[in-house]
Amino acid sequence: MDFALSLDQKGLGKDIQEFSRRFLAPIAAECDEKQEFIPTEIWNQMACLGYCGLPIPLEYGGAGLGALDTLICLEAAGKGGAAAGHLLSWAVSTVLGSIPIIKFGTPEQKELYLPRIANGELICAFCLTEPDAGSDAGSIRTRAERSGDYYVLNGTKAFITNGPIADLCLIFAVTDPDRGSEGISAFLVESSFPGFSRGKQLDKMGIRCSPTGDLILRDCLVPAANRLGPEGQGFKTVAHHTLEWERANFSFFLGVMEYNLQTCIKYARERIQFKRPIARFQAIRHMLAEMRVELDAARLMFYRIGWMIDQGLVPAPVQASSAKYFLTRALKKNADYAVQIHGANGMMKEYPVERTLRDYKIAEIGGGTTQIQLDIIAGNIIKS
Ligand SMILES: Cc1cc2nc3c(=O)[nH]c(=O)nc-3n(C[C@H](O)[C@H](O)[C@H](O)COP(=O)(O)OP(=O)(O)OC[C@H]3O[C@@H](n4cnc5c(N)ncnc54)[C@H](O)[C@@H]3O)c2cc1C
Repeated sequence: MDFALSLDQKGLGKDIQEFSRRFLAPIAAECDEKQEFIPTEIWNQMACLGYCGLPIPLEYGGAGLGALDTLICLEAAGKGGAAAGHLLSWAVSTVLGSIPIIKFGTPEQKELYLPRIANGELICAFCLTEPDAGSDAGSIRTRAERSGDYYVLNGTKAFITNGPIADLCLIFAVTDPDRGSEGISAFLVESSFPGFSRGKQLDKMGIRCSPTGDLILRDCLVPAANRLGPEGQGFKTVAHHTLEWERANFSFFLGVMEYNLQTCIKYARERIQFKRPIARFQAIRHMLAEMRVELDAARLMFYRIGWMIDQGLVPAPVQASSAKYFLTRALKKNADYAVQIHGANGMMKEYPVERTLRDYKIAEIGGGTTQIQLDIIAGNIIKS
């Protein structure tokens, strides 16, 4: 493994960090308050700069980046001070919206959708969870029944990131109820298809800049040509082979942690108590040191996942789940310490560290809960 970043990687990271600092950080608090996504003019600017198509091949109008480079870009945006909610929605659309199509799409599906994801026209959602199927995602009930050249979809998808705004939704539905998870197929569903509707945007404690909501499918007509991958392979192949990317997507939180750490170092140097900067107190210094050590370790685990995807060394369920598990723990501590170091100010909304203590929770729940990550790790190491 060689994690020395190339000049290109460093340059790309710096550009995105600067973009985030100039355009996303200043709107973070207000969007968090109002539960608003990235404004259209900024989203369009991101698309022009190639940020909406990071892993999409050049021939489809994307930036053609590998996994490690994509991960570095997501991290860089976090370092610039953007709201984690904006970064989550962006990562879900750009990465989880495109990777399944890149890996399993027909030439026609790639031609139809990838350029429009890259140019920012399509915002995407990845829709597995249902009201009665969360961690046990293989038990989904949304039905897809073949009718001539179409599938008819019926069911509800719950807690979907970008649900209230998505134009293109990757929906997992049961095509053969007798075959369990091998009877699940994946479909590219446009929000304009008849029978598609949305629930209201949900009011959340954290990650408020990322719109979340339910999707309702009532006799939703989906062309058979929009099935992604073979029938019955939606869960076993499409979802399963996207898992490493799904975990790696949380790399924007590495940047959020770095931003918090730098903010805390600055605050600790400036805040005077007992006639000296609080950075002189060992208790504060040790918190900063722990934040640094754990961020470093989480970063290396994430870079390893990016590298493994690029080398074709996947599936790598243990490494991917370990990275997400460790990041979540480090992030929780980072968010808690950041508020503690800021004292009362840390609880005030005008200080960005306050937001992280609400935002971090998505890492423990979304993309497979912490308990499920441990289950995956245990299942694999005990088996082997
Ligand atoms: C803000 C937000 C955005 C989301 N975005 C998306 C999205 O874009 N697409 C999508 O498909 N889903 C999305 N989700 C849903 C998310 O993936 C699920 O919430 C998650 O998988 C957990 O499912 P659940 O909430 O039903 O909890 P449950 O599965 O009901 O779990 C409840 C508790 O039981 C524990 N538990 C469950 N089973 C086990 C077990 N076998 N062993 C040990 N503990 C267990 C869990 O860890 C958890 O602590 C989102 C959720 C949130 C909050």
